[in-house]
Amino acid sequence: MVNDEFDNMDIHFMKLAIGQAKKAAKINEVPIGCVIVYDGKIIGRGYNRRNTDKTTLGHAEITAIKKASRYMQDWRLEGCTLYVTLEPCQMCAGAIIQARIPRVVIGSMNSKAGCAGSVLNILQMPQFNHQAEVVRGVCEEQCSTMLSSFFKELREKKKILKEKALAESSDADNNQGFINR
Ligand SMILES: [Zn+2]
Repeated sequence: MVNDEFDNMDIHFMKLAIGQAKKAAKINEVPIGCVIVYDGKIIGRGYNRRNTDKTTLGHAEITAIKKASRYMQDWRLEGCTLYVTLEPCQMCAGAIIQARIPRVVIGSMNSKAGCAGSVLNILQMPQFNHQAEVVRGVCEEQCSTMLSSFFKELREKKKILKEKALAESSDADNNQGFINR
């Protein structure tokens, strides 16, 4: 079931997922954040740490699922809602289905890699034994702006580094010329 209806609580928890994403940005990771809520309470949080921890398992959703499972003392996360700022990838969508999470709330979609309706819809395949209710577009603009400004800053940083490297190499050339003389 695709349900685009959401309430103020969904907005509230998505904002907390955005708060997690900002932690990722602070350590120069792509800003993606996730919280898992049970009974009105956050039981798992996560943010992207793939480069920092040097593991493909460092996605926000995987960290949040691990923590929520620890809290619930169960691999099944029945009755939970997962909030994530960006549409989950194939790995995380797979983990969400494996964990039997019944409801997933997404900020912005990821047309190139998302598996909650963009490239695939792993969350809602009738062939599997579990499907999640999916809510899209909660705080969408804030979530997508956060990503686009992160990438814009990254390009600017790279440009500055490149210019600096060019300037240094031309200095080195000049010094080389001087030494040769
Ligand atoms: Zn993922």
